[in-house]
Amino acid sequence: MPPTHEVLNQPPTLERYDLFGTDAVLTAGVEREGAGWARERLERLGVEAGGEAMGWARLANANPPILRTHDRFGHRIDEVEFHPAWHELLRLAVHHELHGLPWREPRPGAHVARAALFFLLAQIEAGHGCPISMTYSAVPALRAQPELAAEWEPRIVSNRYDARVRPAAEKTGALVGMAMTEKQGGSDVRANTTRARALGTGGPGGEYEITGHKWFCSAPMCDAFLVLAQAERGLSCFLLPRWRPDGTRNRFHLQRLKDKLGNRSNASSEVEFDGAWARLLGEEGRGVPTIIEMVTHTRLDCVIGSAAGMRQAVAQATHHAVHRRAFGKLLSEQPLMQNVLADLCVESEAATITMLRLARAYDEGARDERQRRFARVATAVAKYWICKRQPPVVAEALECLGGNGYVEESVLPRLYREAPLNSLWEGSGNVICLDVLRAMGRTPDAVDEFFAEIAPAGGADPRLDAFVLALRRELTDFSALEGRARRLVERLALALQGSLLVRHGDPAVAEAFCASRLAGDHGLAFGTLPAGIDCAGIVERARPALAA
Ligand SMILES: Cc1cc2nc3c(=O)[nH]c(=O)nc-3n(C[C@H](O)[C@H](O)[C@H](O)COP(=O)(O)OP(=O)(O)OC[C@H]3O[C@@H](n4cnc5c(N)ncnc54)[C@H](O)[C@@H]3O)c2cc1C
Repeated sequence: MPPTHEVLNQPPTLERYDLFGTDAVLTAGVEREGAGWARERLERLGVEAGGEAMGWARLANANPPILRTHDRFGHRIDEVEFHPAWHELLRLAVHHELHGLPWREPRPGAHVARAALFFLLAQIEAGHGCPISMTYSAVPALRAQPELAAEWEPRIVSNRYDARVRPAAEKTGALVGMAMTEKQGGSDVRANTTRARALGTGGPGGEYEITGHKWFCSAPMCDAFLVLAQAERGLSCFLLPRWRPDGTRNRFHLQRLKDKLGNRSNASSEVEFDGAWARLLGEEGRGVPTIIEMVTHTRLDCVIGSAAGMRQAVAQATHHAVHRRAFGKLLSEQPLMQNVLADLCVESEAATITMLRLARAYDEGARDERQRRFARVATAVAKYWICKRQPPVVAEALECLGGNGYVEESVLPRLYREAPLNSLWEGSGNVICLDVLRAMGRTPDAVDEFFAEIAPAGGADPRLDAFVLALRRELTDFSALEGRARRLVERLALALQGSLLVRHGDPAVAEAFCASRLAGDHGLAFGTLPAGIDCAGIVERARPALAA
């Protein structure tokens, strides 16, 4: 057919770009928070993530995993088959040690470096981040049982991804998942009904048989899982491998895969344990305190993942706007579009700067009790707020591309489907807010440390000072606390983000944040920044430039 028209005014695809080098907030933040030594590694992954990995991301989501309960002869195998692109993504992530860098190389800044690496790849594909994140997070919980840690840690921190379905001891690397949620409740894990029976004397490190089910068990092809079950002395944490010590498959039976809104590259399964073999981690009855170390680190990753989702949405939207014309001008030259984009950039910068600071608390927390206390409150506060911001940011960024944004090829639909998840799992919004209240009640020192982090920003901006003062006053009112928890936690998050931005952020972004989020000169939708903000400058700084 002869061409009927010339294709005009369509932006170049945002691909083959350097995700690290084109992100001014990230590059400065990595230096500031102590991971400058990882720059070369970040530069490499920045280029790799913006290259072939983008194609893998598309393929892994367009070809979701398939459950194979039995082989052709009727033997139970309980396997999930993934598209090769899924394995490429995992290979890349493991090669760059997104799953284990701070454990393998516990030097200052290692958690920050790893957070930045995770931030890069999570922008491209979120699903594979699930097993990567769970594997990273399992290590501190596993250390509750030194002999089990000694056996498993070398496999976990290996930088060689091994997709083979074999006992972990025969593989070059292992991944670890987590199974807590049951049909009758996920938030309230103490209601778990899955039972654990000691084989022999039981006790820490001992062998048990687990019977029951889990209603959500993601990445079921991991090599082992941290599982909660009721033992004689109460809810306990177990390490349950896919294979038994005698080389047979463990009685870990996959029932179904969930048909999910997003995160489609990743398998999330329903599983039954029919006398599955496991070993106890920590003391019987101490399951929650043992697994909480894992949960805390996955919450950090929810923060990183949501910051990443927002950054990619903003990258796509700003890129589009500098190439697309309407009514005789580029979208990026239209004052109202400048306001929308700048408002999104402000949210994204606030998230990125917060997640990097939070990651540093994990580095310093290893030696400094004050940083541990700060991380205790700041992880929950950031998990609540940054994850909550992701869906509206992505939805607005999608609209910046007009109809093109609603079409799968633009990447925005995938980002949109992914957006609600980080707020939901690893403690959903309300549960996290109640957790902040619990921390405030049990460890008031942790709240002091939270405010100690904000204090150096005092005097830098009167709107921040007034906001912090009002918040402190609000925190002295203990009436009807539960019902006010979201409001309080949101304000804690805004105070922290404001303090970080006035200290380290772009001055125009800090100005916009203080005026809109702290002083309230803002509407309910994005694109309602007050007059006088350098919107064009904010957008120009945030947009990823394609290499010439
Ligand atoms: C894609 C996906 C993958 C997952 N993968 C895993 C996995 O690998 N392993 C795993 O163990 N779990 C997994 N989960 C489960 C997830 O962690 C739970 O869904 C989550 O913890 C919430 O539990 P629930 O679904 O039982 O909801 P519920 O606990 O019933 O909560 C429902 C709602 O009530 C709110 N709520 C609960 N208690 C209170 C309260 N006291 N006050 C006010 N509000 C309250 C919650 O915030 C939530 O909004 C996954 C979930 C999804 C969607």
